[in-house]
Amino acid sequence: MPASTRDYYEVLGVTKSANAEEIKKAFRRKAREFHPDVNSAPDAEERFKEVNEAYDVLSDPGKREQYDRFGTVGRGVGAGGPGGGYVDLNDLFGGGGGGAGFDMGDLFSAFFGGVSGGGRGMRREGRDMAMGMRITLEEAATGVEKEIVIDRLATCEACKGTGAAEGASVATCPDCHGSGQKVTERRTFLGVMQTAGPCERCGSSGQVLDNPCDECEGSGRVPDRDHITVVVPAGIRDGQQIRLRGIGEAGIRNAAAGDLIVTVRVAPHEFLHREGDDLHCKATITMTQAALGAELEVCGLIEDNEVKVPAGSQHGDSVRVKGRGMPRYGGGSRGDLIVHLGVEIPKKLSKRQKELLHELDTEFGDGATEEKGALERLKDWLRG
Ligand SMILES: [Zn+2]
Ligand SMILES: [Zn+2]
Repeated sequence: MPASTRDYYEVLGVTKSANAEEIKKAFRRKAREFHPDVNSAPDAEERFKEVNEAYDVLSDPGKREQYDRFGTVGRGVGAGGPGGGYVDLNDLFGGGGGGAGFDMGDLFSAFFGGVSGGGRGMRREGRDMAMGMRITLEEAATGVEKEIVIDRLATCEACKGTGAAEGASVATCPDCHGSGQKVTERRTFLGVMQTAGPCERCGSSGQVLDNPCDECEGSGRVPDRDHITVVVPAGIRDGQQIRLRGIGEAGIRNAAAGDLIVTVRVAPHEFLHREGDDLHCKATITMTQAALGAELEVCGLIEDNEVKVPAGSQHGDSVRVKGRGMPRYGGGSRGDLIVHLGVEIPKKLSKRQKELLHELDTEFGDGATEEKGALERLKDWLRG
């Protein structure tokens, strides 16, 4: 959302105390200026989207309040988001069609991929929201429950989301007769088209209130801060998303709420490296352990592991321990633990160790002389 880094008031060129009428006027002025059909500057489209986004927020009392309080209105407000693109040119130029012949808005919504008729705060469903969460690899292995704090528009408790004050009566909207939609006929260059659009009078709810709730001004939702427990299943991978249905922004007057999408980031581990569902680690063994074989204790995420190093292991060999890797997300057998062996050649030897190695060296035979010790021979071997 690059546009949201700019201040919405600045984008429209109004002060923070501007009233609804001033904001509307400023929007029309700016939108006319940057409409890509009348402004050929390369950044006109971007600026135009920015103006729309700012107006989308500042023209909606609920969103504006949230923006003033939190500096954001959650995900989906930006360009390309539902309802972000549609603007009726007739609206901008103040004409009721007149000589225009066809409605640029239709073309424009297709151009921006917007939902026809879904513009300017008419969306009733709550938006999806996005959050990030960081967990450790241990937590990814066992699964974890984490609490997150989320600022969003939540259902108004005072009116239970209905938007009506106590004792208020709800009547069928006289404009749309309760359908929430208004059908308009439009002349386009393809002929007369019937378009169903949202009813502005009732915000497409089909109902009007004679006495709206004080807390939410009739929208049925208020900015709120909530603590949500997110259950992270075992085996989750870095970057994977968890969708919590209905935990996003509340809808207008009990319309469907959006989802909360939590992106899980798994921090890298100190010594265990994950590849898919397998875990990799390094273990250092002595040259005698490599030659004779050994049993090692290797720390894992869920349990410690006995690792059998076979006799004759070489530097760089690896040992696979089946079923001791990460749990499989959504079930199934666990991945494997792969232990990469590093053979350490001693840099300092005691007198006794030196004697034993010389003895061993002689035992190896193979034309080796007394003068050429085991270490020398190893170096020869390394040289190829
Ligand atoms: Zn309310
Ligand atoms: Zn209506």
